[in-house]
Amino acid sequence: MNNPPFLRLTFAAVLAFTAAALLYADSSKTTARSVSQLAEGIYVIRHPDAPDGFPQGNTTVVIGDESVLVVDSCYLPSSAREDIAQIRQWTTKPVRYLVNTHWHYDHQLGNGEYAAAFPGLDLIAHTETRNQIRGYNPGWFERYPKLGTRYQQILEAGKLSNGTPLTDGLREQIKQIMANRGPVVEEFKSSPGRVPNVTFEHEFVADLGHREVRVLHLGRGNTAGDAVVFVPTEHILATGDLFDSPVPYIGSGYPFDQVVTLEKLLQLDAAAFIPGHGDVLRGDAGRAHIALLRDFLQDVTTQVSAIVHRMGNNPADYDKVRAEVEKAVNFDAWRQKFAGDDKVDRDFFDSFPHPGVVQAAFAQTWVR
Ligand SMILES: [Zn+2]
Repeated sequence: MNNPPFLRLTFAAVLAFTAAALLYADSSKTTARSVSQLAEGIYVIRHPDAPDGFPQGNTTVVIGDESVLVVDSCYLPSSAREDIAQIRQWTTKPVRYLVNTHWHYDHQLGNGEYAAAFPGLDLIAHTETRNQIRGYNPGWFERYPKLGTRYQQILEAGKLSNGTPLTDGLREQIKQIMANRGPVVEEFKSSPGRVPNVTFEHEFVADLGHREVRVLHLGRGNTAGDAVVFVPTEHILATGDLFDSPVPYIGSGYPFDQVVTLEKLLQLDAAAFIPGHGDVLRGDAGRAHIALLRDFLQDVTTQVSAIVHRMGNNPADYDKVRAEVEKAVNFDAWRQKFAGDDKVDRDFFDSFPHPGVVQAAFAQTWVR
């Protein structure tokens, strides 16, 4: 199912305005499924967005002499099944490990399909990620069938929950999302996901048979339990959503911490970077883009911190703080650096990480 870019953007915009339940959209043009080989026995699968407009994270496959490790199970159970069929074409060895880089739904709702297909599977995650999957998934499966009602309410009210009036185009796009949700509702009825059964705090090492894979928690960033997956011999690193290409997915998380976490990530001896979403970046280009994200987060968090110190840390003052941040940070320049002249990426920057990073940074100052 291919969705035009506007559908993804609208989905993000609508949800950003309506609820925090589903703050996702794709910053890159994943309109089609694609498979690429990075090294002998190491593959990346990219997924088209789901029929309901939801993006799907990248899946990485690492094959050893004895077994297979997979990074992230994407969003749709049907897409996970396609991935499993693809893996079985590559190898007869079983998937022994499935790593969830973080709890967000677009990276782990396919877990149940792997557990069903590979009885010896261990599902690996940082302890926080396991806790959040265990905590959030039941609510998701409860809420998802009811989300159509929320869209219906928006249509009937003629405005988003923040008061923004619906344009004809927005109205049509919401109707499209609603019309496409049916098959996804059905999928989730028959595939309820799976909670990780093996947790780690700092590092988990998987031996696939003449191939060692390191699963590392370098610190908080996109979530409290972010994991990256590193294949040292091939210098390949899967970053989860700590890094996305070209525009970051930041609607929540810990941007103050992410600056430090990305610095540690850059110190790994990686030559290929598989982002949570978007194209694989290699070598210096990959390092430069990750450094750009680090610098963006450093800029925003520094300004948010200074403004909150000046104005006080009352959560009710968010709008005032945000107005000051808009003056202090040159978002036009950052947009250009991340998105260039690509309209879809530029719109995504404005609808998601631009407000998202300010909000997330502000939220981190509440506890200070
Ligand atoms: Zn994601």
